[in-house]
Amino acid sequence: MIQQAKCDFCSDLAPAWYYPATDFVAFEIGPVVSKSEGSWAACDCCHDLIERGDRAGLAERSASMFVVANPESAEVIDSLRGELKRIHDLFFSNCYGTAQPLTSEVLR
Ligand SMILES: [Zn+2]
Repeated sequence: MIQQAKCDFCSDLAPAWYYPATDFVAFEIGPVVSKSEGSWAACDCCHDLIERGDRAGLAERSASMFVVANPESAEVIDSLRGELKRIHDLFFSNCYGTAQPLTSEVLR
């Protein structure tokens, strides 16, 4: 379930779509487990990249937007991009169905 109006790929604050997905573990480092739960929201730009099958472009956009929000991470953008790509690949393995318009009724 989508709990906030934020693109799950690039953190854009105006997602317009969502992709239904089953839960999966995004990463597990020792006791730290990050789990993805349910659907992922996508803004128009990420939706375009996904529909075009441009996973490299999607990872690039996600990493760039992350660095804009967290400038101190600029020096690790290469590993960041790789890690985001890995998580996106996991997402696509767990995604079922097609993009749906994200309306206020979908948000809780
Ligand atoms: Zn986005």
